[in-house]
Amino acid sequence: MPDPEIPVVSITDMGMVRAVQVRGGAVEVTFTPTFSGCPALHTIRAGIEEAVRGLGAAEVEVRSTLTPPWTTDWIAEDARERLREYGIAPPAPAGDTGLIQLTPETTRCPRCASFDVRLTASFGPTLCKRLYVCNACQEPFEGFKSV
Ligand SMILES: [Zn+2]
Repeated sequence: MPDPEIPVVSITDMGMVRAVQVRGGAVEVTFTPTFSGCPALHTIRAGIEEAVRGLGAAEVEVRSTLTPPWTTDWIAEDARERLREYGIAPPAPAGDTGLIQLTPETTRCPRCASFDVRLTASFGPTLCKRLYVCNACQEPFEGFKSV
């Protein structure tokens, strides 16, 4: 199923589904929401349940867990490409940068690929995204916040 906020990637691409357990006809799915502040949680839950029922499961239980917390590193490589094509800057890998980050995360313009961008607001239309403006082509665009 597509991410309700980003139709080009599915929740599995985003690395949100953590575990699937099957007991008889019952299926238990555990997922980690991308951000606890995302308003799409209910939609995701309902979407997973519907998808699993569609596969023939009689009983579906969908649980969300915040431990371990979701990280942008769980996003599948090909999903990052599709995000870029869709016009959303994929997050820079959070990686093993440790506690001290000397360089800010690199974000590039999805239209002209320039790194010369500036952040216009900490949070975009949802808590998951940031708004940037490209200094090279003057286009505003959305970027993921690396967590
Ligand atoms: Zn640009």
